[in-house]
Amino acid sequence: MALHDVVGHERPVGIIRRAIEIGRVHHAYLFTGMEGIGKKVVAMNMAKALNCERQDGDACDQCAACRRIDKGVYPDCITVNPDGAVIKIEQVRGLQQEIAFKPFEARWRVVIIDGAERLTRASANALLKTLEEPPPQTTLILIAAAIEGLPATVLSRCQRIRFTPLTDEEVKKVLANHLAQDQIDILVPLAAGSPGRAVQSDWQTVQDVKTTLGTAFAPSLHKRLQLAQDLAREEGKGKIFLELLEGWLRDIIVYQEVREEGRLLNRDLIDEIKRVAPCRKSDGLLQAFWTIQKIRQGIEAHGNLQLALESAFVTMEGA
Ligand SMILES: [Zn+2]
Repeated sequence: MALHDVVGHERPVGIIRRAIEIGRVHHAYLFTGMEGIGKKVVAMNMAKALNCERQDGDACDQCAACRRIDKGVYPDCITVNPDGAVIKIEQVRGLQQEIAFKPFEARWRVVIIDGAERLTRASANALLKTLEEPPPQTTLILIAAAIEGLPATVLSRCQRIRFTPLTDEEVKKVLANHLAQDQIDILVPLAAGSPGRAVQSDWQTVQDVKTTLGTAFAPSLHKRLQLAQDLAREEGKGKIFLELLEGWLRDIIVYQEVREEGRLLNRDLIDEIKRVAPCRKSDGLLQAFWTIQKIRQGIEAHGNLQLALESAFVTMEGA
């Protein structure tokens, strides 16, 4: 693929294409935005566009440079990933040695530091020197899901490009190349704008969790809290449950209002939705929906999964 094939991200891609076009490529970029959204894809395609042998300002996907960058065997396109939990200072020093000389063959050497929020304090400090005085014909692309961990000295030396979540339609378009249609229908709402997140969702877990959704309406609070405890033991399951529950409540509300199956996110649960919808009060459902949305945002921000699940199940009393 090439920059012009990237789904969504018009603004980031536009900034990059323009910089290449007018020959003003910055020496350090910081791509930010949620995990799995396509930042690395854009970075790789930028490397191709900068070095393509045939096309001006974008990749042709056919020439030796494009193909070798895709395969990860182009010596002047270097990617640094965290080694375990962090990017170590030795990795930064190794990189600095590697790029001390002129590029082997590239017009533009591209260094991608993926997971830059995991640079240790020492690694980030070591990297400052390179960000200040990069070797000629070299651009560094730092990729980070969150910038909180990055020191201001690093932030101030990079041109920041923000990536926002894709629309559901765009996510569907990206996923069409990776997943079967029935999986796409179910995973798009869970993706929340990130195709990578959908691809990584464990399909079996999603299926398992779906079978327990009905318990959220169990009349016994004790039973509901028991499920909260069980789900909290597996972080992945607990989070997926809350996401699915939010989508499911939304579906029941929508079905009560319009009775159109085509408008539902969980069309595979239509029988259950039809059964539940007539026996529930819409204001109670709506209240539960908003509360669960807030609870989910709370976990993203500061985490206690069990508490979040318990609050969600208590909230379901009103639904
Ligand atoms: Zn090419």
